[in-house]
Amino acid sequence: MEDIIKLHDKKFRIMIPAAKIDEAVAAVACRINEDYRDKPTPLFVGVLNGSFMFMSDLIKKIEFNNELSFVKLASYEGTCSTGCVKNLIGLNNSIEGRHVIIVEDIVDTGESIEHMIGELKSHNPASIEVCTLFFKPDSYRKQLPIKYRAMEIGNEFIVGYGLDYDQLGRSLKDIYVVTE
Ligand code: 5GP
Ligand code: MG
Repeated sequence: MEDIIKLHDKKFRIMIPAAKIDEAVAAVACRINEDYRDKPTPLFVGVLNGSFMFMSDLIKKIEFNNELSFVKLASYEGTCSTGCVKNLIGLNNSIEGRHVIIVEDIVDTGESIEHMIGELKSHNPASIEVCTLFFKPDSYRKQLPIKYRAMEIGNEFIVGYGLDYDQLGRSLKDIYVVTE
């Protein structure tokens, strides 16, 4: 894979190779396996589109019976968060009394995940935790604990492994960061 790529008007350079992502996914899966193995059939809820690749790799490393579902909550355009969130769509499974693990690509300001947790809590699950591939501690503005963070990064804008820049870059197996 090339070290520098161009998507629309911006250049990106490689930041995290696929092997490192795999290690981080394995480590977070290991923690979830320990915490949930004795609980009744937990439900993983992936947030589309960004989490599809993370969910696919994470779920293969889960060692207990599970269900999975995907929902959508779009809030992001271009390279900065707009702060406005749309409604949750696609939740078909009943989550009442269930142990729910939300699977996110990235938690930035926390607006989207706060909205998502609020929506899911109104359906009375037994528990809700968040598993995010990336967490940006310097941008996070909420109090809600994000229990499972595969990797932490600074305020840079990244693409690849499901994450896009105006729809491009999702299929890259490595993570790239925007260059100056
Ligand atoms: P938040 O609501 O936490 O500010 O933003 C969360 C959403 O913004 C993520 O689910 C993701 O779609 C998008 N986002 C935040 N930071 C980045 C980034 O560095 N790269 C990409 N591609 N999307 C991001
Ligand atoms: Mg997302």
